[in-house]
Amino acid sequence: MAHVDYATKERVATITLTRADKANAQNEQMLDELHECFLRAEADDEVRVIVLRAEGKHFSAGHDMSGGGDGKTDRFGPDGKYHLDKLYRWEAKKYLGYSWYWRNIPKPTIGAIQGKAIAGALNLIFPLDILVAAEDVQFSDPVVLMAIGGVEYHGHTWEMGARRAKDMLFTGRVFDAEEAFQIGLVREVVPRDELWERTDALANQIATRDSFGLAQAKRAVNQTLDVQGYYTALQAVFDIHHTGHGNAITQTGYPILSDLSQMKSELAKK
Ligand code: ZN
Repeated sequence: MAHVDYATKERVATITLTRADKANAQNEQMLDELHECFLRAEADDEVRVIVLRAEGKHFSAGHDMSGGGDGKTDRFGPDGKYHLDKLYRWEAKKYLGYSWYWRNIPKPTIGAIQGKAIAGALNLIFPLDILVAAEDVQFSDPVVLMAIGGVEYHGHTWEMGARRAKDMLFTGRVFDAEEAFQIGLVREVVPRDELWERTDALANQIATRDSFGLAQAKRAVNQTLDVQGYYTALQAVFDIHHTGHGNAITQTGYPILSDLSQMKSELAKK
């Protein structure tokens, strides 16, 4: 695999994003590899807990906006232009579809998050069960800058509450470690150089529990959210997201409005 690493130790599977030179920006190949790793961890009866982490300074800068990634994309029509039907189908599978699948794997998933976690990064983070954050973590979803109302997996309202979700989306501001902890988004905040070690300790502790018990506990919480409309809301908001893409394609031929300079300057900020 080019952008993701997979390893198991005792009862814990660890999936690591390794595209640190691109701030772990997600291209199609990375997402496919990531999904392959989750499937592998799910299928391995020895694995009780799954850890997702990322090499480098930042967890993920979001989607790789430089293109489809590795020439695999089929988001374009025969004329080589963006077509909303193709884009919708592609994102339904690779973004919302993958994220929803990971959210429902019947094993605890723990994220170790550091640095920037921007926009598409939340598609990886919201589906996870428990988050451990480094002191320098910065969650944000500034895609309103591109005239889109948030990333594809709308966990925001569920994970942060309605007013904070609106704040995050309207302002594009960063939620730092302290605030993320206060609102219950992350379980604990640890020094950057202890992030992986502390996450492993938690994973190992949880992995001592009965696997069926863990699966049932996860299902109990997820099912409670689902009967409140979690799944239905995710699907509805995905369609809202695509009216944003449709609007942008109509106006510019590109699925987002505005240039990427504002996003890049966001990432460049310390
Ligand atoms: Zn999208």
